[in-house]
Amino acid sequence: MAKATGSDPSLLALKRRARRINRMLGDAYPYAVAELDFTNAFELLVATVLSAQTTDIRVNAVTPALFARYPDARSMAEADEETLQDIVRPTGFFRAKAASIKALSTRLVDEFDGEVPNRLEDLVTLPGVGRKTANVVLGNAFGIPGITVDTHFGRLARRFGWTTEKDPVKVEADVAALFEPKDWTPLSNRVVFHGRRVCHARTPACGACPVAQLCPSYGEGETDPAKARKLLKYELAPGREELHARMMAAETRAQLRAAGFGLEA
Ligand code: SF4
Repeated sequence: MAKATGSDPSLLALKRRARRINRMLGDAYPYAVAELDFTNAFELLVATVLSAQTTDIRVNAVTPALFARYPDARSMAEADEETLQDIVRPTGFFRAKAASIKALSTRLVDEFDGEVPNRLEDLVTLPGVGRKTANVVLGNAFGIPGITVDTHFGRLARRFGWTTEKDPVKVEADVAALFEPKDWTPLSNRVVFHGRRVCHARTPACGACPVAQLCPSYGEGETDPAKARKLLKYELAPGREELHARMMAAETRAQLRAAGFGLEA
């Protein structure tokens, strides 16, 4: 993306439009939070490592048993690796993932007294933890602003015209320049939600998109409203109106699962 100075009118216009898009996404997804279940930073760190190449729903299905057995870094560092593999098997790449979570637990014990550090430069030294995972943990477990550039975020940032970069670190820098740090974590969650539900990689549902009027890529996908609605996923999918209404009413994932709702795509 072309760099511009603070008084550059095109940068100001871009910022203004980006912030409006963020507010509209906030109205569309007031319930957008990290889609991995966790109760502390250690659980979120491990769950995020497990989420590589699979869905958050699949990770949420294995983590209750995993954390019941290994609730902290000390117990996971001492875990039998084959037992770990059996538990995380449904998330795919289970040998590598079991090795990663055991190794990162060992490092937490050896280097950080068993606690998850709250600095990006420390988090990225942990086995299996890159910048994206570190930002997920900082933003959602520690309340420290972070932009999480996964495949959805990168694609949407380019479609919104916030960046032309492909490299996640450069995307992160370009987007960070458009928003206040306090907005980075909620923005990340909203954009990822939007990418999963509406603005799909292959055929975005432009005709059913809440930010269509501000999006420079409107028309890249299906613009017919009826056809576009059929492309929507998760709680926005046709026939899931009750689930959507209950999410808008701030019911949690745990409450919705207990009420018998399937939360998958
Ligand atoms: S208008 Fe289309 S391309 Fe733009 S955000 Fe919406 S779905 Fe994505």
